[in-house]
Amino acid sequence: MEIIEKINIMQELSERWRSDGHTIACVPTMGFLHEGHIELLRVGRRRGDRLIMTLFVNPTQFGPHEDYTGYPRDTEGDLSKARSVGVDVVFMPTAEGMYPDGYQTTIAVGEITQYLCGRSRPGHFAGVTTVVAKLFHITKPHLAIFGEKDYQQLVVIRQMVRDLNMGIEIIGVPTVREEDGLAMSSRNTYLGPEERLSALSLKRGLDLAQAMVKEGEKDSSTISGEVRKLILSHPFTNIDYISISDPETLIDVETIDKPSLLALAVKVGKARLIDNVILR
Ligand code: AMP
Repeated sequence: MEIIEKINIMQELSERWRSDGHTIACVPTMGFLHEGHIELLRVGRRRGDRLIMTLFVNPTQFGPHEDYTGYPRDTEGDLSKARSVGVDVVFMPTAEGMYPDGYQTTIAVGEITQYLCGRSRPGHFAGVTTVVAKLFHITKPHLAIFGEKDYQQLVVIRQMVRDLNMGIEIIGVPTVREEDGLAMSSRNTYLGPEERLSALSLKRGLDLAQAMVKEGEKDSSTISGEVRKLILSHPFTNIDYISISDPETLIDVETIDKPSLLALAVKVGKARLIDNVILR
């Protein structure tokens, strides 16, 4: 496995792979890898014959009061996990390399970045799309793999790729969970033992909603009201949003008469957790 920090070296290697006819798969990550990331890498390993993992904690997608400096990091552990899945290259640029003095360009997707997490994290998705566009220009992949856990991120990236004719296939991978249902996340490390129990309220809320829909409930506000009650019955929880929306446009739906996205963002202690399910 090769470790590349320099942007031009990565670009030259990807260019060479492309002209030699290889299919390049790219898995962007911020590191502190868990089984969710590993699953993305496995899909990438199957779908591409050259697999690049990017490892970069992108400062521009964090708000001024968010956890950029405290974001968990474990480069050595990440490299050994990447090696064990058969990653060909880990591309890990520096922040100065990605955003040198005088940097001035942003890529911002429109309406769908305004809903859900976009409401409470202004500028977050512009940070994400800008860094992902840069990573795509550097690693030149044919396909890129993202998790459905960050559902809005996945649809925002699909929109960007379509709008900017990037010609990259975007593959979504179902959320990988702990045995008790908690969606894996690098931020789960922030949870103390009691908060860890309360964090289960997200998946319980999703399951409750799915069960209500199966029993015939169609009214979004009835369902989100019950999910809210359930989550707030757990200590340390602070709901950012509970949203039921169209899975493609992310526009709120009042009546569930086709598959709809239930997305949650809940602060449990200092960890802001997200999770989602398609209600059908
Ligand atoms: P991150 O390092 O948190 O930026 O995540 C990198 C990629 O891993 C993103 O595409 C995430 O959606 C994906 N990911 C994170 N957690 C999970 C999970 N539990 N299951 C599947 N994919 C995940």
